[in-house]
Amino acid sequence: MKLKIHYLNCGTFHPRFASTLVPALSVTPCLCMLIEAGEQLILVDCGLGTKDMEDGSRLGLPNLLLLNAESNPKLPAVRQVQKLGFSTKDVRHIICTHLDRDHAGGLPDFPDASVHVMSAERDAVLNPRNLMEKQRYRKCHFAHGPKWVTHDVTSNEEWFGVRCIHELPGLPPEIVMVPLNGHSRGHCGVAVDTGNGWVLHCGDAYYVKQELERAPIGVRVFRRVAHEDYSAAMASIDQIRLAIRNGKGTVTAIAAHDKYEYKRIFGERLV
Ligand SMILES: [Zn+2]
Repeated sequence: MKLKIHYLNCGTFHPRFASTLVPALSVTPCLCMLIEAGEQLILVDCGLGTKDMEDGSRLGLPNLLLLNAESNPKLPAVRQVQKLGFSTKDVRHIICTHLDRDHAGGLPDFPDASVHVMSAERDAVLNPRNLMEKQRYRKCHFAHGPKWVTHDVTSNEEWFGVRCIHELPGLPPEIVMVPLNGHSRGHCGVAVDTGNGWVLHCGDAYYVKQELERAPIGVRVFRRVAHEDYSAAMASIDQIRLAIRNGKGTVTAIAAHDKYEYKRIFGERLV
């Protein structure tokens, strides 16, 4: 099946102090993918939701103190799906790279969709094991009772040399989950075969593409605190490099908060 990807920015953050301390993250999008797959639509991540835009306190203290989300009613995925002429009900599946506030905030806007995540990530939401997990996931994003579909690596299947999960229930075979652990307990990437090469949505496995070569100094410091398991996160970046190398020009990686990727996709700077 030929899949068509619409790229969406479903949330813009203006992190406090970043222009000085981490210029690469002075403004960050929440890049999501809306995939047309025949009759159905599939979202990869869903950014911030409509209620988050109305009430920033849903995003918790870190948003107030640091992340500083822009309140913009046009950005939630549900609004952009409607603007493209689709019905909200056409979104049958959402695959979340992980369930942080800036990736799962839109879930309540699609209560009928199946929500695909790694088992470990869903478990982290249901049973947070430390303060970091307690504060990063927002109960309000899951209060509607998402229709979870959880996944684990159960075979030695590989995607360009990297462990993966094929055959996701209800999803076309051109979509593959690629565990990229470290940022959170069950973080993963999502690879999509467009028929004209693969796109690997890496979520927060890295922040800006320079990290695949050499990370800017500010980002190097930032990612030490942002990733739950720093060593695992660095190993995941190695996995992304490996897939790109093995893909020989057919694999394009994107990350959720990469403002340079935003400019490449939309042709204008994010401000
Ligand atoms: Zn994020």
